[in-house]
Amino acid sequence: MTTILASWKDPGKVGIEAAWTARLQGADLTTTLEKGLSACELDPELLAIGLGSLPNADGDLELDASIMDGRTMRAGAVCAVRGIVPVISVARKVMEDTPHVMLAGDQARRFAIENGFKPQNLMTAANIEKYDEWKRGEAEEFYVHSVDESHDTVTMLALDQKENHLVAASSTSGLAWKLPGRVGDSPIIGAGIYADDEIGAAGATGLGEELWKAVASYRAVRNMESGMSAQEACEEVIRHMIRRQVNAKDLPCVVMALRKDGDFGAATTKGEFPLWICQDGKFEYREYLALEG
Ligand code: ASP
Repeated sequence: MTTILASWKDPGKVGIEAAWTARLQGADLTTTLEKGLSACELDPELLAIGLGSLPNADGDLELDASIMDGRTMRAGAVCAVRGIVPVISVARKVMEDTPHVMLAGDQARRFAIENGFKPQNLMTAANIEKYDEWKRGEAEEFYVHSVDESHDTVTMLALDQKENHLVAASSTSGLAWKLPGRVGDSPIIGAGIYADDEIGAAGATGLGEELWKAVASYRAVRNMESGMSAQEACEEVIRHMIRRQVNAKDLPCVVMALRKDGDFGAATTKGEFPLWICQDGKFEYREYLALEG
């Protein structure tokens, strides 16, 4: 049985369908998630990630991505990369072709170009219009999860139960209108994603500053190691954040988890969190309501 999870409604649907298509064609789990996230990044219609997503305060797109292989514990990430898509593929190259975990900014872009990625303008008429709205003071301040769930990070987890193998991956344009150079949780191993074949995998999305401080994904995996279900593991992280982090409810902070036995769950500090699930081609959509506290 293959289980795939993907965050958020519209981009998650694109991601999980592309991932399953790749899986059906024989892709391994790493390629499955790379294909899923690439499909989102390359779709100019999605304001979520990659091409045509929401830029920083200068009107530039700075993209972050990460991937972790639960078998080898290898991981790769890039952050604040301009003019390159899909950055999830660059993150994979960092994992597979270098001894490093993360490359940043201009040097990540240089690495991508040296590896055959073509620099391109990632701004489209639609995201320029959104940026102009924000400049005029007409857009949601800073962040968009609360007003339109078609936006933001796509975080994906995958499990091959027969092989007892897990992979976690994430791609994002980060918070809309962020300060140039700002990097959130998504490309940070342990914060935005984590995978360990001995236990399970977890991923985060939402207000990156808070998720990072919580080391949310690692904490969820450790919770599962201690015997919690995936749902209990996510709820413990979110309740801890609500109790200890004064800004944890400013914007949604979400953790999703997948245990090596296929058990999965998610929890959020605020709003509703839409999650896509694919179990051997059977697609399901669920919404998780914010925890009290
Ligand atoms: N976690 C991402 C960040 O803070 C944003 C998101 O998930 O939408 O960069």
